[in-house]
Amino acid sequence: MATDRKRVSAVNSTSSSLELPMDNYSQSSQADLKPRKPRVYRSKVFIIAVSFSSVLLLIMISAFAVHYTVGFPSSSLPNGGEKDALTMALPPEQRVWVEEGISELRNAVERKDNKRRAKNVILFVGDGMGPNTVTAARIMGFKEEGLMSWEKFPDMGLLKTYCANKQVPDSFSTATALFSGVKVNYETGGVDSSVPLGDCAASLNPDRHVQSILKMAQDDGKLTGFVTNTRVTHATPAALYAHTPDRRWECEQKMPAAATVEGCRDIARQLIEEPTGQKINVIMGGGRQMLVSNVTDSEADPIDTWSCKSNDGRDLIQQWANIKAANNEAAVVVQNSGELDAINAQDTDYVLGIFANGHLKYEHERDTSPSGMPSLKQMTLKALQVLRSKNQGFLLVVEGGMIDQAHHRGTARKALNEVLAFNDAINATLQALGNDLQDTLVIVTADHSHTLTINGHASKGSNIFGVAGNSKTEGTPYTTLTYGTTYQGFQPDANGLRKDPTLEDTNDWEYMQQGAINTDENYHGGSDVTIHAVGAMSYLFHGVHEQSYVAHAITYALRIGRFRDSSIAESLADLLPL
Ligand SMILES: [Zn+2]
Repeated sequence: MATDRKRVSAVNSTSSSLELPMDNYSQSSQADLKPRKPRVYRSKVFIIAVSFSSVLLLIMISAFAVHYTVGFPSSSLPNGGEKDALTMALPPEQRVWVEEGISELRNAVERKDNKRRAKNVILFVGDGMGPNTVTAARIMGFKEEGLMSWEKFPDMGLLKTYCANKQVPDSFSTATALFSGVKVNYETGGVDSSVPLGDCAASLNPDRHVQSILKMAQDDGKLTGFVTNTRVTHATPAALYAHTPDRRWECEQKMPAAATVEGCRDIARQLIEEPTGQKINVIMGGGRQMLVSNVTDSEADPIDTWSCKSNDGRDLIQQWANIKAANNEAAVVVQNSGELDAINAQDTDYVLGIFANGHLKYEHERDTSPSGMPSLKQMTLKALQVLRSKNQGFLLVVEGGMIDQAHHRGTARKALNEVLAFNDAINATLQALGNDLQDTLVIVTADHSHTLTINGHASKGSNIFGVAGNSKTEGTPYTTLTYGTTYQGFQPDANGLRKDPTLEDTNDWEYMQQGAINTDENYHGGSDVTIHAVGAMSYLFHGVHEQSYVAHAITYALRIGRFRDSSIAESLADLLPL
């Protein structure tokens, strides 16, 4: 009110002082009828103009002062007005965003590049773990505000996952890009893109073979290993040691007769009989039916009927053990969780752990007793123990392979639960590493995406497997999660309309989310995937990269392969010695 009055009085005084010279002028013009001298006339105009300007300036200053006082109460203007008005205005429960923002900012400002040469590298690959899969798993496990273990890493980027001849790739071509640094044809691996799918003769040319980071690490005296919860001959691990024009050639039974005659070896034989496979210190996963002929089927350990099943009389597990014994090497074969735990890492140089005929069981249906199958975390920790015990540096690749399997079946809850199991393995690894993280590069990425979609607009805190709302055009409820492609697509009812998902339990492990396109299964998605890194040289992952960049960055961090010559490496960046 006081300021309003001030403003009114300022206006009144202005108008009265404006009228004064006008009145004077009119009085004088009435009194004096003689023509006025031009000098006097100009002088009066000059005085009036100056007076007018002064008054106008006074009005402006008053108005500014009034506006300033009203806009910013004096209590919020201490010490030059530097106080954060946003913070002052926010209720306490919302200050968390400001506090978190400042904390994240502090981390960003204080971040220092670790330029130590990496002695060890651990590469975690979540098969099919696209960005939406991570977001949905995060909400499932930790609510919207949570973070997966790798989402706290200081460095991250994106990978473009297309392969040499497809916009949306398969896991064999992407694993070859990640591990060998070149993009190759769909469903081929360990051979360059001049080798067409299924061309045995072309794949036999050693000039067409690409070398993996695992082979290069072996050549430079490092220990190597891989862990997967799929078959050890499956696409992702196979790209570490095999050179094969068709990912289906996991055993002899899926190979064309002509390819066998031409001299191509199936993937299982390459693992056990070729030099790179023989030098791998730790091999863990499933796939017994590829390594041993005519394995027995059981409910606890079913045969995978979708894939190869050897029947040529082989026992490559025994053959592996015989080779190690002949070389007098400290090697052990383990086939269940209890045997795995019993391994004494100090006394062991080689481990072959084959825990299932096909893939290992999903984490939620796994027999957790010693006679059952181990978790990804158990396998990873034991692999780490064996590889660290020799202190000569190591490369370990860990695949969370069942994320992809569950997505293919269209069962999102299983897929997301597998992401959480993958997260457990990574958390446990970081804890086990402790200070060794200083000279270990830990990377977490995915090989490709899936078509999982997170639909709007469920309330914050909602069950991620629940219903997001009702369609405004058809009235039928829809779930938050759906797929682009699935078996039975949008699951039409008897009238051909999209089925009401609430007629089923959408929280059930076996529930299949609806999809836009009806086909035989959910296909891979073509979105970029994230890559996160911590430890030695993690700063190398910083922007949008081709997937094939990863192999080059790892060989550079380890200074193996083409970067073994230190002068080449030092021309790229300052590297601190070990
Ligand atoms: Zn897949």
